[in-house]
Order: sequence, then C-alpha cells, then structure tokens
Amino acid sequence: MATPSRIRLARERRALTLTRLAQMAGISQQSLSNYENAHAIPTRETLEKIAEALGFPPAFLGADEVEEVPSKAVAFRARTKTSMRKQKAVRAQAALAIEFNDWLTARFTLPEPSVPTYGKPSPEAAAEMVRSMWELGDTAAPNMVHLLEAHGIRVFSLDTEHQEVDAFSFWRDSVPYVFLNTAKSGERGRFDAAHELGHLVIHGHERPLNGPEAEREANQFASAFLMPRADVVARMPAGSQVDQILKAKAIWRVSAMALAHRLHDLGLLTDWQYRSTCRQLAEMGYRRSEPDGIRRETSQVLPKIFTLLRRQGQNPATVAEQLHIPLTELNSLMFGLSFTSQQGSNMRGKTSARKPVLRIVPSK
Ligand SMILES: [Zn+2]
Repeated sequence: MATPSRIRLARERRALTLTRLAQMAGISQQSLSNYENAHAIPTRETLEKIAEALGFPPAFLGADEVEEVPSKAVAFRARTKTSMRKQKAVRAQAALAIEFNDWLTARFTLPEPSVPTYGKPSPEAAAEMVRSMWELGDTAAPNMVHLLEAHGIRVFSLDTEHQEVDAFSFWRDSVPYVFLNTAKSGERGRFDAAHELGHLVIHGHERPLNGPEAEREANQFASAFLMPRADVVARMPAGSQVDQILKAKAIWRVSAMALAHRLHDLGLLTDWQYRSTCRQLAEMGYRRSEPDGIRRETSQVLPKIFTLLRRQGQNPATVAEQLHIPLTELNSLMFGLSFTSQQGSNMRGKTSARKPVLRIVPSK
C-alpha cells in the first residue's frame, strides 16, 4: 500500500521536484503526481522504485497518513524559489521529528509542557514573566536547550544542509517544538533558542502575527530573557567600551553584538556609541562569527533516552527502523550526538508496563 501524503513528504524532504523524482524513479511525472494526489495507486514495483530514488524504506511510504507542518511555523530570511523548496524540506524534517516524538512519548514520560502563552504584554514583560514562572531569578539563563527541555519543549536540531533557516518553532497538540540550526556559534544558538521561546510565548498556538514585526518581538524577548535588565544595569557602566563588552558577554553567554544591542536598548549606549561599537566589532569579525565563542549547547533528553533504550536492547538504528526512516534522518535531529550502536540484547522489543519518567535538570 502507498500513502499519498508520505510520498509527497519524502519527496519534499529530499527537496526534489515532481519532474526530478519521476526521472530518478523512471516513471512519468503524471503518474507520480497521481500517486501523490491519490488519483492512482502505484504497483509494488513502482513503489519500490520511488522509495529507492528517495532513499527511504518502502515501508515509510506505506505507513499511516502524516500531517504537514504549517508553513507559517517557519520564517525564512529570503523567500526565493529555491528557498521555497528548502522550506518544504525543513518542514518535512519537522514532520519526521513529530513522529519521533510520538514514538518517544509512547515509551517515556517526557517533561510536561509548562510554557505560558501571553498575547498582551510587551516582549520585555513577557520575558520577565517567564523568568519568574521558571524561577530563574535575575541572573544569566542556564543552558537554553536543557531549560527548554525541562519545561516540556521538544528540541531538535536541523539538518546542516539548510543554512538558510536559523531556527523555528510551533505548537502542535499543546506540545511546543523548537528546531535549532547547529551550524551557528554557541552564542547564536542560545539566542535562537530564546527567540523561538519568544514566538511560543508571545505568538502562541495560532501565530496571528508573522513577518518582521513578529521577528522584532521575538528578538526583544530573547534579548530580555538572556540579559535581564536588572543584572545588566547593575554590572555594565553607561558608555561601555568594546573591550568591556567582549569581557562581559561571557557572563550571559551571548554574542558581543547582542550585548551591544541590549546596552543600547537599555539606554547604556547612546545611538552614536552603539553605531561606533557595532563598527568596531564588525571590523574584529564579530558580525559574521563569534571569535573565541562558547560551545554549542545540546540536548539532555536524547542522551538520557538512548541510555534507557540501550537497556531495552535498542539503539538509533533500531529506532530508525521502527520509524521506517533512514538512520541519517534520525541522526540529523539529534545535535550530532552519537549514541553507541551496540548489538541489541535479547530484551529487544520488551517494554515495561510503566513508562520511565525523564527528569531534566537545567545546568550551566
Ligand atoms: Zn522568528
């Protein structure tokens, strides 16, 4: 059996046009289009040819219908024709992550989502409210990936092929998801995570606001969340010099540019000082990258899960097999973490009656 939505999903995941995939599978474009639109059913041989061209197991194309991730969940920097295909590839990856998450929640009790949604307050106020709800006090935020995971947000990495997307997030069935591009500096990764938290909190389930205004709000939220006003005002003198900023960015583990921006926002740098600071930082290479940056933050949930799975004789390969996806697809969601692929023990497939509970403790 072939599932139309799955043929489309796998094709979009590979960023292939109908024409290209039809060529690769040696079938006509019309037939392929008919299969995707449920106007015709491929024979078993044809389905196998399509699966092979896609690099997905045939079983993937025959599994249950999948739901698409809505396009407004993913904000792109440039909307061009190529980026449209890439956007679909990224959304298809998110759809696979949802299936992985469903598989996990059937076996483990993951942290319950505790992410508030505030439509009304300013991004600054919303950031303070989340900080207070999560009992973070007034100091630097801990490891952002751990923090989001601890509050029930499912955090996955984006496959590194798609550099055009920094990060994105959405709510699905009351579960918040965040996807992060791991190719950026560690500081940028923290900012992206806080930015996506901002979208989840301020723009909520329906995402009524999109575009530059929503991006500005999410950035303001991230800035306030990572660099709390009281802490910054207490530590940073007005008119801070570039060397002071470079030293202080380690306190909040943010980029030098992000700190300069925050100082300007809080009135600690004048317009002129801010412009001059940005110019100097750019000359030193701080616009494109973060010299001497921190390490990327990664998941705490995934290593814990795979430790538990190993006891059941499972490893990433056996999980990918059950999800009917190539192992590379599963790996691309897991921050480049590698989990030992030991031979499965004889306990394979056995699951205990009670689901293990995962506890996540955010740490630095
Ligand atoms: Zn955004």
